[in-house]
Amino acid sequence: MSIGYDAIIVGGGHNGLTAAGYLGKAGLKVLVLEKRSMVGGAVVTEEIHPGYHVSTISYVVSLLRDEVTRDLELKKHGYSTIKTDGILCICNDNYLFLTDDKNHNRKEVARFSRTDYDAMEKFDAMVQEAGRVVRKQMLMEAPKLNIGITDLISLGKMGLEVRKLSAKHRHRLFQLFTSSAYDLIERWFESPMIKNMYASSCFSGNYASLKQPSSAIPFFHMAVGELDGELGAWRLVKGGMGSITQAMASFARSKGVEIITDAPVKEIMIENGRASGVLLENGNKIKARCVLANTDPKRTFLKLLDQKHLDPEFAKDIKQIRMGHSSLKLNLALKGLPDIRFFEQGKEGPWHRSDITIFPDIKGMEENYFAAAVGKLPKEPRLEIVMPSTVDDTLAPAGHHVMSILAKYFPYELADNASWDDIKEDVADQIIDYLSISMPNIRELIVGRKMISPLDLEREYGLTEADIFHGKHDLDQLFSFRPHPEAAQYRTPVKDLYLCGSGVHPGGGVTGAPGHNAARRVISDLKKK
Ligand SMILES: Cc1cc2nc3c(=O)[nH]c(=O)nc-3n(C[C@H](O)[C@H](O)[C@H](O)COP(=O)(O)OP(=O)(O)OC[C@H]3O[C@@H](n4cnc5c(N)ncnc54)[C@H](O)[C@@H]3O)c2cc1C
Repeated sequence: MSIGYDAIIVGGGHNGLTAAGYLGKAGLKVLVLEKRSMVGGAVVTEEIHPGYHVSTISYVVSLLRDEVTRDLELKKHGYSTIKTDGILCICNDNYLFLTDDKNHNRKEVARFSRTDYDAMEKFDAMVQEAGRVVRKQMLMEAPKLNIGITDLISLGKMGLEVRKLSAKHRHRLFQLFTSSAYDLIERWFESPMIKNMYASSCFSGNYASLKQPSSAIPFFHMAVGELDGELGAWRLVKGGMGSITQAMASFARSKGVEIITDAPVKEIMIENGRASGVLLENGNKIKARCVLANTDPKRTFLKLLDQKHLDPEFAKDIKQIRMGHSSLKLNLALKGLPDIRFFEQGKEGPWHRSDITIFPDIKGMEENYFAAAVGKLPKEPRLEIVMPSTVDDTLAPAGHHVMSILAKYFPYELADNASWDDIKEDVADQIIDYLSISMPNIRELIVGRKMISPLDLEREYGLTEADIFHGKHDLDQLFSFRPHPEAAQYRTPVKDLYLCGSGVHPGGGVTGAPGHNAARRVISDLKKK
């Protein structure tokens, strides 16, 4: 048995690596253990066909905190972003193409409504203003329910931020947390196309009926992002999303952090009531002063810990955490650029270099949710598509392309005991058929593909029940409740065991925030020992 680390981090996802970077920078002796053969978790670039590389899971960046980028010197270690040309929305027989050019956008929206462009500007500004308050909380510890002095201070700081809002904006902030997406959209917009577009953007970060209270929370993801000072920006990453985690790993190594891949942890060891290290699948035991779990709360507490160390009441609460975003990823290697039915065929346009979303109308989105809720597949799924090779020549051979498709809602648990392993390639074919309506020549361009079912997300990438955020972003699963009031400040009921992944405040997405906050908590606790 080897002894001697200050901290072992279970999982080399972007949050585990962020925590590792900060702990290493503080002079601590740190070991990261990652079960896969590469670090990154859901933030990776992989070869899907010889010569074709793509962000296999997450595919766009916005939420990564500028502080993390700066403190971990990510740009020096190879991370850079690329702007796309716009957003192409396709709904039924209509399309809308939005760019950075406000005059162009006003004309585009005027094809559907005389008033909605102004409404969009007002709505986006309102979400930005509310997002400012939320953004400030991302790198702060959520206050404990068992309130102490430091919690009072952080509550006070939050109160000050809310106080800066006008009464009107406080009302809107409250509405964004509690209203249904449907009610908000109906309140703000008049044309079906614009309503469908906003509903679709909410649908993306959610797994709920649009009419359910609090289903508007994903609007915050539109606002809390910030890249190089540009609020709400979403961009691609040069070399794919894996460049973020490779840069994080490179920084951590430069601070002496050891990172071992192909090292699945079987158990977090508890001795004398405290986390004392880990037992690997290969039988090796490694000891440390503390353990940080980048794994989601269900996996951490229910799979990696002997249940006798947990209060049964706490374990019951963890079992009850709502998971599931019902997503799958289909990544394609293409020998050329597909035509898009609304634009001149055989010619590249800015829409190819854009975020392309194909979605049904609100009624169709609701049907998709209710179908998924009983294990059924959508007929007309929401597809979010990027072709990063149009702006990044490091990903595919010259003239060839890669396409990343996030498809929703595809349930983790299928009806009639069907198995994802049996149906996944048929489902990929169905998605390609559906995509062919908008991109008529897509099928003939495909030279390779990698279909990642919800079951693959769990089995291969370690996302329990395929939840993209390590637990849904519902009101009762956020902030001081994430993942549980007794584990929301990165410490857990097990002494010297900490959580550092998306299952803790402020939640999922490529933010680096849980890793940053957990590291700060660990550094402070270790100093006191
Ligand atoms: C399909 C999909 C698309 C997404 N798109 C975006 C997007 O475009 N933009 C965005 O901001 N967010 C996106 N997200 C969300 C975002 O990627 C995740 O919320 C975030 O990356 C999770 O990071 P993490 O470090 O907390 O956890 P993870 O990335 O899940 O890392 C956990 C790590 O633990 C490892 N692990 C698991 N079990 C063990 C074990 N026993 N021993 C050792 N290691 C173990 C895993 O292999 C993994 O590396 C997407 C997610 C999915 C699934």
